Parts: sequence; C-alpha cells; structure tokens
Amino acid sequence: MTTTRFAPSPTGYIHVGNLRTALMNYLIARKAGGTFILRIDDTDPERSREEYVDAIKQDLEWLGLTWDKVERQSERLDRYAEAADKLREINRFYEAFETPTELDLKRKKQLNMGKPPVYDRAALALSDAEKDALRAERGNGVWRFKLDHERIEWTDGILGDISIDAASVSDPVLIRGDGQVLYTIASVVDDTDMGVTHVVRGSDHVTNTATQIQIMAALGFGHPEFAHHSLLTGPQGEALSKRLGTLALRDLREAGVKPMALLSLMARLGSSDPVELRTDMAELIEGFDINRFGSAPTKFDAEDLYPLTARYLQTLPVETVKAELDAIGVPADKQEAFWAVAKENITTLKDLEGWWSLCRDGAEPLIADEDKEFIAEAMTLLPEGPYDSESWGKWTAAVKEKTGRKGKSLFMPLRKAVTGMERGPDMSALLALMQTVRARD
Ligand code: GLU
Repeated sequence: MTTTRFAPSPTGYIHVGNLRTALMNYLIARKAGGTFILRIDDTDPERSREEYVDAIKQDLEWLGLTWDKVERQSERLDRYAEAADKLREINRFYEAFETPTELDLKRKKQLNMGKPPVYDRAALALSDAEKDALRAERGNGVWRFKLDHERIEWTDGILGDISIDAASVSDPVLIRGDGQVLYTIASVVDDTDMGVTHVVRGSDHVTNTATQIQIMAALGFGHPEFAHHSLLTGPQGEALSKRLGTLALRDLREAGVKPMALLSLMARLGSSDPVELRTDMAELIEGFDINRFGSAPTKFDAEDLYPLTARYLQTLPVETVKAELDAIGVPADKQEAFWAVAKENITTLKDLEGWWSLCRDGAEPLIADEDKEFIAEAMTLLPEGPYDSESWGKWTAAVKEKTGRKGKSLFMPLRKAVTGMERGPDMSALLALMQTVRARD
C-alpha cells in the first residue's frame, strides 16, 4: 500500500517550493490509490505556530490537495524518546558538549587545513567524570548519532544511484541540549510507524537521507523509497530562496492565480513532459510520473501562471463564476452574455470588474484628431440603447454608407471611440452589453 506524506514545519506560509513537494507526494499516493498524510513537523515549540498549521491546511484545501490523515510530531514525543533510548542501548548515541562557538572554530580549522568540516567526535573520548563536569558547567549536551563510516547507498527516484561516504558527514545531532527532539530522528520514527513507502523531498535533504537511512537501519527499520527533486530557481537561474517569501501560495491566490493553473505547471516543471493545462485533478494524477523529472535546478517564473490561469478561466461555464459576477453587479440576465465576452479577455477574475464597468458606464473615448469629424458623424447614426447583438452590424453598415469608409479605417476608430481601446472583444458582442456609449453623449 503506497503511503506518502507532506511534512511542512509550521513556521511560515507555504510557497511554490513546498508545493512542489506536496504535489509530488500527493500525486504518487493518488495514482497508486494509496494514502497521503499531512504531517505537521512541529517539534520546535518556539518557531511552530498554530496559525501556520491552519494556513497550511487552507492552502492545501484551496488547491484540492486533500489528505487522508493529519499527524503531528508534537503528539509523538514519547515515540521519539523510545527510539533515542534504543540508540543509547546499542551504543550509537553519544552526548557532546561543544558550544556553537567551539564547533565553529573546529570547522574553520578544518577548512583552513583543506579538510571537510566534519565533527571530529571529540566527545567520544570523554570519560564519565569529564561528562559530569561538563554537564555541571554547561548543562545537558546534545545527542549525536554515531554514523558507521561506510558508504551509504540508495537508488533515488530522481537522482538515480547515490553513494555517500558517511565519513564525510558529521554525526547528526538528534536531540538538543534543552531536550528538543530534532526532525532527523522524528521523521525516521514517523516514516516507519506510519508505513510511509515513498519520500519525495527537495535535494537539500540528500545528506539527511543518508543519515536517516543509517538511523533506520540501527533501529532495525527498513527504509522507504527516496526521491529528491531539484530546487527551484528564478527565471534566470538565480537562487529563489530569498524570494520564496513573496511566492507564498496565499499571495498567488490573492493575485488571482487559479489552482489548476498552478498545479498544472508544478506537476510538469522540471520534467521531460511538456507543461499542459489540466482542468481536473484526475487528469493531473493520470499524467504524473516522478521518473520523468531531472536533477537540474528547475526554473520557475511566476509569470507563467497567468496565461495558464487565463486559459483555465476560458474553460469555465458561467455558473462557476456566478458569485464573482454577482459581486461586481452584473445582472442575472446579462451574466451569460457578459461572461462569454469577458472570459476571452481576462487574465484573472479580477479583470472582470474593468470589463463590467466599461459595459455599465461606457469608456472614455479614444479619438485621433484626424477622426474627429468622422466619429462625430458616426455618433449621429448610433441609436440610443438598449443595444443588441445586431446593433454593431447595423450601425457600422450605416456609417460605411454615409462616410464611404471601410475595413480598418472604418472599424478601428469606432472601436476606439466606443471602448477607449485599440483591441478587445468582438464588438457585436460587446456593444450588445453596453448600457451607454460615452462618445455618443
Ligand atoms: N519538515 C521537513 C521540511 O520541511 C520535512 C522534510 C521531509 O520531507 O522529510 O524540510
């Protein structure tokens, strides 16, 4: 039974980078008819906030990424303590007392000597008496997992065969001096207890994975399949990490981006399959294949979301936007005709308001000097409303007959005078919706 999880830390709003992880895990579970767990990694009581837990759920709900279960690490501390005891029992866990400054100094020395900055395991040489003395002086130490210095290997679902020399990695700290359990061990225990079969996460976790594979083995657990997706960069390949704050899912929602546009992009970006707009989740699930993703950094441009959103909106029947049309005051009997015109000319639903105010109040006319007389004459031929779908045809025929203009020189000045714009919707359909033409008054 396939089980995946999305495991955000509730320390902020989730962004497009997190979404990639969430979506891949979601799609794998759904495609296999398995279980998708939302796991809240809240072992850090200082940085975790309930409002972010709520916000993460709202964002996932908005996208339709429904989970089957919620788990919270803060409710599972006993399980982590048991695992820690086991590691102590088998002599794979040791207490270390270096201060951050001391560790920093050690790292600098190693780097100066051209060595990798790996923790030197000085704490392993401490006698019990020395540890007692250090504990009395500095308080409890941190607990480090003692790695076996051998190669750690796995076949990654995206990166292929990976082999990491454990000696090039510091023994990971799993419990802090203040007793706080860290993600590295909590995640190992959870993934095992919850029967997680596939872990997809960012390639910044590759080293974690290596250490977690050893911790799992030490605890007598097997390990799930791992896949590490590349990290997102900006359109020019620049690091996105600093800008991710502005790419929070809620900001994109606020900007009018539609879930299926965002999901369609993120389910394919960085894979060898083309990005295609999908209008429902079942199609997205069907067309997803983790093996198609590559390891190269993936360029993300938020601007790509808007044409996809526009195309998505064009597929919607009027009933689905009734609330938006009501909100801007489009009368019920005009909604269908208005939507038919407007949907072809909007990027997001926010643009509807502008089109409706044009219909309701008319537009500031745009009239070139050389067209002034022509427009004045044309306006005398435009009857007073209400207009219908034939009004534009009849009017332009009459103007053509009277002035002798035709083609572009006939239609363009009229369009500009009526709509204030050089291009836009089909004029027959638009004029039929217009309640006033300001150039006429
Ligand atoms: N809470 C971790 C993170 O957000 C989870 C990583 C994982 O998927 O194991 O980075």
